[in-house]
Amino acid sequence: MSDSQNNLDKLRHTLAHLLARATLEHYPEAKPTLGPPVDDGFYYDIDCGDTEFSEDELDKIEGTMKEFLDDWELFRSYDVTADEAREFFADNEYKLELIDDIAEAGDDITLYYSGPKADAPEKADLLESDDTIFRSGFVDLCRGGHVDTPNKDISADSFTLDTVAGAYWRGDEDNQMLTRIYGLAFATEDDLDEFVVNRKKAKKRDHRTLGQELDLFTFSDNVGPGLPMLLPNGEIIRNELETYLNNIKEKHDYQFVNIPHIAKRKLYEKSGHMGKYDAMMPTFTDDSNTEYVMKAMNCPHHFEIYNSRQKSYRDLPLRIAENTTVYRNEKSGELHGLTRVINLMQDDAHHFIRPDQINDEIQMILDIMENVYGTLGFGDYEIQISVRDADSDQKYFGDDKIWKRAESILVDAVNERDIPYEKVPGEAAFYGPKIDVMVSDALGRQWQLTTVQLDFVQPDNFDMTYTGEDGEDHQVVVIHAAILGSFERFMGVLIEHTGGDFPLWLSPTQVALLPVGDDHEAVTDDIAKNLESAGIRTVIYGPDESVGKRIRNVHENKVPLFGVVGDDEVDADEITVESRRDDIDDITTEIDGVAERIQELIDNTDN
Ligand SMILES: [Zn+2]
Ligand SMILES: [Zn+2]
Repeated sequence: MSDSQNNLDKLRHTLAHLLARATLEHYPEAKPTLGPPVDDGFYYDIDCGDTEFSEDELDKIEGTMKEFLDDWELFRSYDVTADEAREFFADNEYKLELIDDIAEAGDDITLYYSGPKADAPEKADLLESDDTIFRSGFVDLCRGGHVDTPNKDISADSFTLDTVAGAYWRGDEDNQMLTRIYGLAFATEDDLDEFVVNRKKAKKRDHRTLGQELDLFTFSDNVGPGLPMLLPNGEIIRNELETYLNNIKEKHDYQFVNIPHIAKRKLYEKSGHMGKYDAMMPTFTDDSNTEYVMKAMNCPHHFEIYNSRQKSYRDLPLRIAENTTVYRNEKSGELHGLTRVINLMQDDAHHFIRPDQINDEIQMILDIMENVYGTLGFGDYEIQISVRDADSDQKYFGDDKIWKRAESILVDAVNERDIPYEKVPGEAAFYGPKIDVMVSDALGRQWQLTTVQLDFVQPDNFDMTYTGEDGEDHQVVVIHAAILGSFERFMGVLIEHTGGDFPLWLSPTQVALLPVGDDHEAVTDDIAKNLESAGIRTVIYGPDESVGKRIRNVHENKVPLFGVVGDDEVDADEITVESRRDDIDDITTEIDGVAERIQELIDNTDN
């Protein structure tokens, strides 16, 4: 976690304490349970008994939070025994349950007071009291992780209470239903305002809504959640993206392969994925009792392809690419539109290289990445170097020396490009560190898309070698790379980034033709045929509706270009193709030349 994220978490966690305290001011009988920081803010789950709690209450509670924040000068911690903690929280069955869990895990138990310095109790006084409240101060069971000086470190304008929802205690529907109060919190008021504005915009651009409105994809209960099906419009986009990417890869000497979507369970035991990943899904056991699973990654198949023939140093770099679907047993609660799905078609590639080729290969992949995201209209990106978590190296394969070497190679490669990066522990793949590229969308949200993983471990697992110039066998180095990540997720991001106004070359329909009346249909049909034979995706909106209504449809369906065909056009043998977008100029041309002019627009990927 970065420093700024860490500070934000502390701030949000602090505000959760303040929220609990402020809620108790208005509902003294309420029982606070748990209140963690989350993305964008914090929440607290509170048992409000029979009290009906509505969003109208939030203003009141927020006002109290801001009032109390002024006096909150510090946090003070108290180490207590399990029994002391139990006695202190005797009336709160939720805290008692948490105390039992902490005690059972053998962890230390701490209470935290937060509030005015003058009211901070000594431990003996605290334990004697049977209340968690000391004037505006508050005592909670907590592991720590707060800001030091709440009234100085938190601006009252940088947070707000947001929504109220029901939540079962510990997410179990057999348990008591609690009131969950969500707050938004950021480092500054500007950050908060920006978030609120962007959230409104994001709602309008939600890819699940736009996906339906623009007929891009659908879900079916019978097929299952998390299993999107692309409709013709969506498949046009996916297919265009795939062709575009494949063309680039062909220019860089990638070779395309095709693998089955299942493999013996044993393959993933060999790679180490089995056991490290819960994502594997069994498919069947054959008549010889061999177990097969759906592939959740493609690496082991591609390794077997590498090993199918002995390679020489002259064969390297060998770049194997494939756009192929993997299947991941995601938790149903985490599925989300196209961005979190069970089936992901990855634009996967494995680079088999000699040690002296590592840096050039990484630079090439990053060049491709910059080119692709530039073309697709994404501006900014940041780089994260995901490394091991020093505390838990048993999660990772390979010895320390190899990891340190791999990490320093990635750092050098990124430094060579003069791109700032952030090192994030704990995010590495189990076989090696990786460069993760976080791409910013039009609303400033970051998406982790491109990934480049350096792997010295699997070549050992799979005994992947090449014959060197010296005639000896040497271990190959593997780079795993995906530019888009997965087509599904990337399309979800692209829909939200563009708000459905796709680049012209990706638009499912590129031109709509509107014959004014029946008399103009024949000419319009001719123009449409002409455009379609040039590969331009064209629709005709027929004269059974008014021209005004049809132009509204053009806008609703986000068709980038349209042309009206009436008497004037037929008489002058000329058509004006209007652009619905500011960044593309209208064109007027003789009817015969229209396909060529539109093709020019499409070929310019800036459009
Ligand atoms: Zn705390
Ligand atoms: Zn891989």
